[in-house]
Amino acid sequence: MTRILHRSIAAALPRAVSGQGVHIGDAEGRSYIDGSGGAAVSCLGHGNAEVLEAMRAQMDRIAYAHTSFFTTDAAESLAERLVRLAPEGLDYVYPVSGGSEAVEAALKMARQYFVEIGQPQRRHIIARRQSYHGNTIGALAAGGNAWRRAQFQPILPETHHVSPCYAYRDQRPDETVEDYAARLAAELEARIIELGPDQVIAFVAEPVVGATMGAVPAVPGYFRRIREVCDRHGVLLILDEVMCGMGRTGSIFACAAEGVRPDLVTIAKGLGGGYQPIGAVMLSERIYRAFADGSGLFQHGHTYIGHPVAAAAADKVVEILSRPGMMEHVQAMGERLQSGLDAALGQSPHVGDIRGRGLFRGIELVADKDDKAPFDPARRIHARVKKEAMARGLLCYPMGGTIDGVRGDHVLLAPPYIIQPEEIDQIVDRLAGAIAAAT
Ligand code: PLP
Repeated sequence: MTRILHRSIAAALPRAVSGQGVHIGDAEGRSYIDGSGGAAVSCLGHGNAEVLEAMRAQMDRIAYAHTSFFTTDAAESLAERLVRLAPEGLDYVYPVSGGSEAVEAALKMARQYFVEIGQPQRRHIIARRQSYHGNTIGALAAGGNAWRRAQFQPILPETHHVSPCYAYRDQRPDETVEDYAARLAAELEARIIELGPDQVIAFVAEPVVGATMGAVPAVPGYFRRIREVCDRHGVLLILDEVMCGMGRTGSIFACAAEGVRPDLVTIAKGLGGGYQPIGAVMLSERIYRAFADGSGLFQHGHTYIGHPVAAAAADKVVEILSRPGMMEHVQAMGERLQSGLDAALGQSPHVGDIRGRGLFRGIELVADKDDKAPFDPARRIHARVKKEAMARGLLCYPMGGTIDGVRGDHVLLAPPYIIQPEEIDQIVDRLAGAIAAAT
């Protein structure tokens, strides 16, 4: 008997009762290796004593102060730390309580920016098909996942979508990587021109696409070309690092690898490491200035923004992430994971692609490797993989996405950064067994 409206009402969920390191224990005494950090959240694993202590110390001082009355040491320290670690040009932080809230705030910040600088006619948001930016109305509208949007379509604000950067399926055989990136940038530019260049607010994209595609990085040079297109038309570039940020791909900010300066970046998930619900929008001096020299007010705000205990937890998480050797460990473990998956699954007729960066890896499952045909959605392969993996003591994050109208299946792996080589090997073994049993 439950009084909770769970995500899936039919599912009988085990009760999580303990978490230590990379393991979660349930009430039946089973232990699972947390191969996905939940949904790419638990970047430091479970039971981190330093983060717990930072939260306790903050609670002893003050647990909550409303941001219309006070700022706090915890929130100020977190903001300073994030700005120090961010790529140049991200100078300010707007703390929120999660990923969808960060995206909502970024979209509204982008819109208000243009109002502040006297371009109130700008009203269009462009994103990419096959993206996920959250579940609230604005973030859902930005996202391009047809299945998630379908029943809410009538109440979503209008947004526009262009092709994702998805080399495995969309790069043509006669096309170089540069040609492919140029084609996608031209598609974005054509859409901006069609909508009216002075009517477009922002282009939103995940540097490495997570939930809807399974750890798909863009091809080299793609984001630089996108930045050029945005600059030509005065369009803001919002990068959504809610899933791929905070060290997940082997650098604290995923966009550092792309060599571009975004105007706004959203972060969450790994920011609180699962210890507290927290997210943030990082913004450039230019946007901050428009507010400071304009109305002096970002017309937005939720009760729990800048929550001191969440900020204290995140400040400690980010301090740990920035210690020497941490990102190198993520990169080394990520490479071990990729080569383990290649060796165990590379020959499978049902594994089309294994990709990703750092400890953010995706496996695309297909009915037929040769023509890349997805499985029949009725077989719910992703759900079967999840069940088989849990039966083997592994938590992974399989999703049934929509590949340009066709449903497909992939599995996302995003283990905690404290993972050790033998645990990586366990994930690979258990996942290979689960995929073999499910397909
Ligand atoms: N943006 C991206 C890229 C995400 O992956 C997610 C969640 O998976 C969100 C936004 C929404 O974050 P939250 O679930 O914390 O609201």
